[in-house]
Amino acid sequence: MKILFHDKFLLHNVDSPAEGAYRIKEFTDIENTYVNGEPFVQLVHTNEYIYSVKQACYANEIVAEVQLTKDSYEDACIAAGLAVKASLKGDFAVIRPPGHHAGRETAAGFCLFNNIAIAAQKLVNEGKKVFILDIDGHHGNGTQDIFYDSKEVLFCSIHQEGVYPYSGFAIETGKGEGFGYTMNFPLEAGRGDKEFLDRVDKAIKRAIEFEPDVIGVSAGFDGYEKDRLLGLKYTKRGFYECAYRLSKSFKNKTIFAVLEGGYHDDIRPLVESFIEGIEIGGRPPKARFNEDMAIG
Ligand SMILES: [Zn+2]
Repeated sequence: MKILFHDKFLLHNVDSPAEGAYRIKEFTDIENTYVNGEPFVQLVHTNEYIYSVKQACYANEIVAEVQLTKDSYEDACIAAGLAVKASLKGDFAVIRPPGHHAGRETAAGFCLFNNIAIAAQKLVNEGKKVFILDIDGHHGNGTQDIFYDSKEVLFCSIHQEGVYPYSGFAIETGKGEGFGYTMNFPLEAGRGDKEFLDRVDKAIKRAIEFEPDVIGVSAGFDGYEKDRLLGLKYTKRGFYECAYRLSKSFKNKTIFAVLEGGYHDDIRPLVESFIEGIEIGGRPPKARFNEDMAIG
């Protein structure tokens, strides 16, 4: 699992104390990967919506709490492109803007285009089944809405309850052909690795029955104990162990990840911890982390 990154992502919504460029400034030593994802964006979003986003960026409007510029549009296209590229060989796309709150025709919660949904839809169009595990601390409502009536995509979200976007209840399970192909695991504020990993196990159990061809992770790191927006208490070890469990459960499958949220200065070490957990042959969490950090 390689990190895919482009330093142009630093040009979007630069000074925001929330979804600002500070989040990814530790990645600038990574070699740039450029893919213009614009041709893929329409796999999920309507042409009218894409046009409206482009116009808003060129007009420097504020949308979804984000100060847009023309760099924002280019970044949104590269972000979608790197998500698609990550899904081919199982890489980690460290991208901005994030995507999982964006619906087919709606920008929301710092998100313009739904990067993981675009990558997943491309795989579905190629006849593949995709398991999306959304571990961002917010509900992945955009991704859920996009695939709510699909049985080709199993969507599972683990998130803090009672916060933005105020959805993601356990009773939301899909509709029509997609009934039973959406799972939500809301957690109370203050919950940590133990509850997080218990829900990861439940999602994996369902996903094994589903028999996905590809696994995509909406990897947000705002469930982390140092996050400024949310009250969950996941640790570095929790992200490692989540990745380790996925890797162990889907040994011969492609597992890719795209960055979503995370509002603190530790995104780089958490991404690295996640990647370390994914790598086949990685050490079991007990060997990797000392007993002092053992979860209880
Ligand atoms: Zn989030």
